[in-house]
Parts: sequence; C-alpha cells; structure tokens
Amino acid sequence: MKTAIITGGARGLGEGMVLKLAEMGYNVVVNYVSDNSKELSDRLIERIKVEYGVNGLAVQADVSDYSQCKKIVDKAAEKFGQQIDVLVNNAGITNNLSFLTITPEQYSRVIQVNLLSYMHMCHLVLPFMAEAKQGSIINISSIGGLMGVSEQGDYCASKAGVIGLTRGLAVEFGKSGIRINAIAPGMIWTDMLRGVDQIAVEHLKQSIPQGKIGDVEDIAGAMAYLIDASYMTGQTVSPNGGIVMP
Ligand code: NAP
Repeated sequence: MKTAIITGGARGLGEGMVLKLAEMGYNVVVNYVSDNSKELSDRLIERIKVEYGVNGLAVQADVSDYSQCKKIVDKAAEKFGQQIDVLVNNAGITNNLSFLTITPEQYSRVIQVNLLSYMHMCHLVLPFMAEAKQGSIINISSIGGLMGVSEQGDYCASKAGVIGLTRGLAVEFGKSGIRINAIAPGMIWTDMLRGVDQIAVEHLKQSIPQGKIGDVEDIAGAMAYLIDASYMTGQTVSPNGGIVMP
C-alpha cells in the first residue's frame, strides 16, 4: 500500500488533502503541532479508516525544527515501511503585520515554518524516494509567492522561496523519477483566512475574476492532479479564481 506524509494535516487545507489522499488509497501520516489539533487528527484518522479503509498515523511535531521533522519521517517508516510515495509540505503561518511593526523574531518564525520546514522535510524524505526511484512532493506555496500583498512581506518571501525550492529540486531529481511541484492557492476559506482583516478580504474578493473565495476541495483536487501528472515537475499550479495569471 502507498504512503503519504502531510505536514499541518489536521485542519484547513491539510484536512482536505488528507481526505483526498485517503480516497486515492494512501495510508496517511498526519502531522500537527498544536495540542488543540490532537483530537482533530485522531478523529480524521478514524474517519479515513471507516470511509476509505486506509490507515493513518498522527505525529505531533513542530516542523520548523529538523529533529522533530526527523521524528515524523522515522515514525512513518516504522509504521508503514521504507517506501514514502508522497510528501505534502503544507504547514504554514502568517503574521499579518506591517513591516514597520514586525520584529525580527516574528519574520524569522515565518521563514522557519513556511520555508525551512519544507527544506527539512524534503531533505529527510528524498533519500527514501531516491532509493525507490519514484516519488511525488507537493509544496504548498501561495499567490503571495506570485504577487505582492501588503503587510505580508515575510509571508510573500517565504512563499516565493517555496517556488524556488520546488524548481531547484525538480531539476536535481528529475532523472531520479521524483517529481516536485507547488500549488499556489488563492484565497480559500480556512482559519488562516478568517484570521486576516475581513475588510481587506472583501476588498480583494472584488478583484477576483470569478468573484468568489475558493474551497478546500479546489486545492485537494490540484494536489491529486499533480500527484498523478507524470510529465509535470517544477511547476506551480495556482487555483485562484483568476486573481493572478502567472
Ligand atoms: P490554517 O487553517 O491556519 O492551518 C495551518 C496549518 O499549519 C495547521 O494544520 C497547523 O497545525 C500547521 N502548522 C502551523 N505551524 C506549524 C508548525 N510549526 N509545525 C507543524 N504544523 C504547523 O491554514 P490553511 O489555510 O489550511 O493553510 C495551509 C497552507 O496553505 C499554508 O501553508 C498556507 O500558507 C497556505 N495557503 C493558504 C491560503 C488560504 O487562503 N487559506 C492561501 C494560500 C496559501 P495545527 O493544526 O497543529 O495548529
């Protein structure tokens, strides 16, 4: 049976992608960090067992820390074996603060969680994929990685970095049978969007050609497509209602 690891999988876009991976027949390792998300992860794992007949494993870990990422990968290999077919780097945070008020600690944290954790997880999982000569990595970027957004300079930098990481690794591992792609979601209803100034959200919504906020399923569908798209690597797919046309 195939195995997938996803970071930040208990809620939001992560939860939607866990359900999609289960529907695709993967056993899923669900990482979470907050104590509040333990119960969510446990319930999700129960749900994928009942609805799709696949197994899950919840691992609490702060992915900004390399040794905690190693814990996720070690536990995945221990439970499901040496073959890791899919990695979805999804964990992310945002500060929503003006660059004049943000502290170096706050913007460093965004880079650690949104970019360095993706490098850590790729660094730890790629040896398994290289050994098996196959694998698919999906890195969750953002339209913030494709365009400027006010009070999101640190977030935009982290998400543009994710696209650069995706491209660099795709070139390096193309001949090893490993594909690495990114998804740059537009605005999708999750806790992250609910945490942003709602007047700004409404304002941005007006400028979306499709005139609506996206759903978690729009991103899960893009993930499923990229996992199976055998001639796609180094690409950034952006389900965004037309707000950016890269
Ligand atoms: P969310 O609902 O706020 O969820 C954030 C997720 O990241 C949670 O699962 C959280 O885990 C996890 N996380 C945060 N810090 C972590 C850490 N240090 N270690 C491990 N996990 C951590 O956000 P979302 O909207 O689902 O966002 C998911 C991804 O999509 C992020 O990378 C985000 O930047 C990106 N994105 C979202 C949108 C949008 O409009 N929603 C648009 C573009 C891109 P816990 O549950 O344990 O707290």
